Amino acid sequence: MNILEVRNLCKSYNVNGCQNNILENVNFNISKGEMVAIMGPSGSGKSTLLYSVSGLDSVTSGEVKIGNKNIVKMKEKELANLRLDDIGFIFQQMYMLKNLTITDNIILPAVQSKKNNENRNEILQRGHALMRKLGIMEIADNDINEVSGGQLQRACICRSMINNPKIIFADEPTGALNRTSSDEVMEELTKLNDNGTTIMLVTHDVKVAAKCTRVMYIVDGNIKGEHNCYPAP
Ligand code: ADP
Repeated sequence: MNILEVRNLCKSYNVNGCQNNILENVNFNISKGEMVAIMGPSGSGKSTLLYSVSGLDSVTSGEVKIGNKNIVKMKEKELANLRLDDIGFIFQQMYMLKNLTITDNIILPAVQSKKNNENRNEILQRGHALMRKLGIMEIADNDINEVSGGQLQRACICRSMINNPKIIFADEPTGALNRTSSDEVMEELTKLNDNGTTIMLVTHDVKVAAKCTRVMYIVDGNIKGEHNCYPAP
């Protein structure tokens, strides 16, 4: 079953009156349970691709279906709800809110979701269960500037999981981490994937890509090759 379907995706930027084509007729699918790495030279369009297919950025033309819903046609409010309820995001720069504790950052998407009818205590229990799984219960009440980069990224993984997303998109999730923290974060993402979570991530790190089930190579805004690291799930 495809979680993500991308058809003839084009994305261009208008720079000083000139149209810059960044993505040109990109086509691919991601099935449930895959963990796909996007690799390619700097400036090849990896982040643009990730942001375009995850509904964070608009596209110029084409079709992007997440769980059978074409996000290209969605109004901003509908798209915002889809991002909140069905998608998890992990970024290199993490983007946690400074005035909230680690726990409050993690549970915020569940508190905001209109689909969720749990009370705050039920949400908190799930948040704590995720934090226990990721080994960060000891920083539950800390501010975000009191924890290490590796702990913060594990907290971001908890936040990305809190609404049980259909797919997680990650932009260089280990890019700001040292090798030890990077290995730990990848171990957690691999565990999530082993338990059925679909993940698409951008990386330039071959050690990170090697942990994925499939690697797609993007050059000059198009997929120029791919290989499966393990049999598809
Ligand atoms: P990568 O992630 O592979 O390094 P990006 O997707 O960030 O590449 O960028 C691809 C190309 O798109 C680059 O040439 C970059 O300069 C251009 N680009 C990215 N964002 C914008 C923007 N907002 N406006 C104009 N050009 C952009």
